[in-house]
Amino acid sequence: METAIPLFIADVHLGKLASMLRMLGFDTVYSNTFSNAALVNIALEQQCVLLTRNVTIGRHQHALQTFIIIHDAPAEQLKTVLQHFHLLAHIQPFSRCMVCNGALEPVAKETVINELPEKTAQYYHQFWQCTHCRRFYWKGPHYNRMVHFIQKITGDSIR
Ligand SMILES: [Zn+2]
Repeated sequence: METAIPLFIADVHLGKLASMLRMLGFDTVYSNTFSNAALVNIALEQQCVLLTRNVTIGRHQHALQTFIIIHDAPAEQLKTVLQHFHLLAHIQPFSRCMVCNGALEPVAKETVINELPEKTAQYYHQFWQCTHCRRFYWKGPHYNRMVHFIQKITGDSIR
């Protein structure tokens, strides 16, 4: 049976975790300006799982789904979330913007070439652009580190 992939909202302490989840394609609301009340409201309204370091947040909100993050290291945090929510099979790199959570779409190299550092244009051939903030993405060192990390968790390779 297909299980639904949860939407996430991450608290103000979890910015790195939020951008890593987005990098793997998981819809994650995050802003370092959200108050605890705002986090709870958004989580309830949009039916997101609230990822938080705060064990008391939303304690009296019975409809609220929270997942308490106990690790300090973002890599450990990510591993816990991926495993707990069974997300490893649902990873879709280059589908979501790490910065704003917007959807990415593939763009032709000719379109981006003038916007990129010369070396990037030389070495990479596949590009994506955020439909919201217009930022560009490619399979650079950041992506390679993430692939390596996922391989360590799963023993498998991803695209
Ligand atoms: Zn964006």
